[in-house]
Parts: sequence; structure tokens; C-alpha cells
Amino acid sequence: MHTNTLLSESTQIKPKLQKFKSSKSDTSGIESLIRATLKRRCTPFMLIRRSVLEKQYERFRKCLPNVTPYYAIKANPHPGIIKTFIKLGANFDVASASEMKQVLRLGATPSKIIFANTIKSHEDIIFSRKRRVRLVTFDNEPELYKLSKYYPGANVLVRIKVANIGSVVELSLKFGADPEHAFFLLRKAKALGLVPLGVSFHVGSQSTNVENYLQALEISSGIFDEAKKNGLSLKIVDIGGGFPIQHFDSEIGINFERMSCQIKKQMKALFDKNVRFIAEPGRFLVGPAGILVTQVIGRTFRNNKNYYYLNDGIYGDFSGIIFDHCRYEFKTLRRGQKFLSAIAGPTCDSFDTLSMNEEIPELYVGDVVYVKNIGAYSCASATRGFNGFPPAEIILV
Ligand SMILES: *Cc1c(COP(=O)(O)O)cnc(C)c1O
Repeated sequence: MHTNTLLSESTQIKPKLQKFKSSKSDTSGIESLIRATLKRRCTPFMLIRRSVLEKQYERFRKCLPNVTPYYAIKANPHPGIIKTFIKLGANFDVASASEMKQVLRLGATPSKIIFANTIKSHEDIIFSRKRRVRLVTFDNEPELYKLSKYYPGANVLVRIKVANIGSVVELSLKFGADPEHAFFLLRKAKALGLVPLGVSFHVGSQSTNVENYLQALEISSGIFDEAKKNGLSLKIVDIGGGFPIQHFDSEIGINFERMSCQIKKQMKALFDKNVRFIAEPGRFLVGPAGILVTQVIGRTFRNNKNYYYLNDGIYGDFSGIIFDHCRYEFKTLRRGQKFLSAIAGPTCDSFDTLSMNEEIPELYVGDVVYVKNIGAYSCASATRGFNGFPPAEIILV
């Protein structure tokens, strides 16, 4: 995991909601899928819809046809998901030797993998060399010395620090070289026997602000120009991840199509035709595919409202509330008048509270509570059985 868990001011931003209902047919399709699965499986379970993985991948390809997507498997490393993306021809972003093993074991080609953690242990660098995963990122000089010792000839991209304004998960607090030092670092890489290929950045996860990408591209093009003037020709721009998704049905202000159009224009305006673009989407590819299905295992009346205890919580598949600073829309199969209620997880810890103010119908023990768009940064960061409660079974459908 190299998602930054530091809180920033921007994490306080709540989604803008609009008053209209999600499409009825989508809801009824999802709810009949949940009902059918409930007959055969115990909750909690997470449904991952292959059709949505495919749809998101195709959407990315279509909107940014000049950009090769490397799926960042930390968002959800489930083998079924990785296999689906291998079939679709995707490339992969890994952050450790263990993630690399996982994608290679499932059949990914080494040349289609980027080792995109700027801080790598020397054991992991040796592993990368052995398995011929050549493309790596870095953002500091000590890392270059390590790479030149353990992986001479590696292809390197310098990761630069860029604005993460409005992104829900900040990544520039921990990663990225000062853009002013980027050329120096690339020249140093060359002097050390590495192959400097270009620049990478990450605008922060769930970045609804397209300006972050546009600015980062402009800064990158400045580095390309500086390198060219000094006789170093760069070839790759890695625009990272961060592409946002809708977590709530009525959320507004997220429009990948419009955003990608502006990104594409900026690329065209700033770079030579022969420059290659790659990206590392995680959330965008898997988030919308996941539906978490839980059941009420107990209820009580406290603080003037109904409290419902679910069989999954903060330590399990709702871990994204903490690590991903995410908010979810809780939905029920039961209909009826809605009341302000609290929802909590099953562990013996008050911290394991999911929401203190949800408008939901009155629920009974055994009733289903489900959440859509929860495929990314959920099961990936869940603990295995704190207090004896197992995380959700992942079911690809
Ligand atoms: C987490 C991460 C990603 C994926 O980010 P998303 O916001 O999920 O698209 C890509 N690249 C790097 C280096 C990351 O740390």
C-alpha cells in the first residue's frame, strides 16, 4: 500500500448532491442480483461486476486513446479482477515485489508492468531485475544510487511533486521531487548507468479538479524542454491515477468525459507527437464495479435514534472510511418512511461506527444494507478478522 493516509484539509470536502433519483432500472437490476446471491451466500459479500470493469476500462481507452492505462492493483488486488484486466490487455502498476509476483503469477507480461513506488527496498529492486520489470519511478538521489547498484540499466521516470488541490487523498505530502530538481535527477540517473525516460506525477486520488492534471502536464513539458536543450531526449509522461468516480447516485461535478477531453487537448498542445503517455488508474477502473452487501445483526435505540449493527465495519470492508477518507451511500432493500439513524460495525469498539446520520427506513435483524461504488480501497485495506469478524467474500459476477 502506498496510499497516503495523512489527512488534509481537502478531506473535509463532502460530495455535492443533487436532488434526483438514480435510474430505476439500474437499482432494480442490482437489487435482484443481491437477492439472487443471498440465496446461495452468507453476508457480508462484495459483488464485483465484470461488466463494469470492462465498461470502465473501455471508457478510459475511449476518452484517452493516446494514454496506456496501467491498473494500480493496490485499489483492489483480487485475482479475478487482475485476470479480467489481463484479458482486456491492460498494463499494471505495482508498488512491491509481492504485488509484482501476484500479477506475474496471473499471467501479466513483465514489459507491461511499472514498479511505481518511488521508495523500493533493495530486495524488491533485485526481484524486479530478475523478473525483467524494467520501468520504475523514483523521486530522490539515494534511490538512484540504490537502483544503479541493484538494477543497472533500469528505465527510470522521475516523479515530481504537483498540486493535489481538491483531491480527496493527498499524495504530494509524501512523494515527488521538486520539479526544479527533476532534470538534475534525470541527468544524474544517466551518469549512474540508468536510462532516464521521462516524468511521472500523481495529482492525488479522487481528483475532481482537472486543473491539477493540466498544470502537472505543463510543468512536465517544461522539464521535457529543459532536458532537450541539454541533449537528453525524454519519451514518456506518466500522468498517474486520481481519476474520480461518483460514490453517491446524486453526486454532481464529476465528469470524466469532459475532464479527459481537456487533458487530451493539453497533451496535444504541449508535447511532440512521439511522446508516449501512460496512466495508473486504480479507483476509476474498480470502484464502480463493487457492491458491498451486509446484514443487520442487531438493533437498539440510543441517543434518540435507531442504531443498526451490521456484520461488516471499519475494520473490514468499510476501512475506506478511514484510509480512503471516503463516504458511502447506504441503501436498503426495505422501502418505507425514512428516519435519521446510526449505522455501526460489529466489533467491540465505538470507533467502529459507520454513520451517525443516515436517512433510512426502519430495519429489522436480518435486513440487508448495501453500498455501491465500493470496489476500490475497501477490501484491499481491510484487516483479516479483527474480533473474529471475517471480511466480505469477494464474488465476481
Ligand atoms: C494509489 C496510486 C495510484 C492509483 O490512484 P487512483 O487514485 O486510485 O487512480 C496510481 N499510482 C500511484 C503511484 C499510486 O500511489
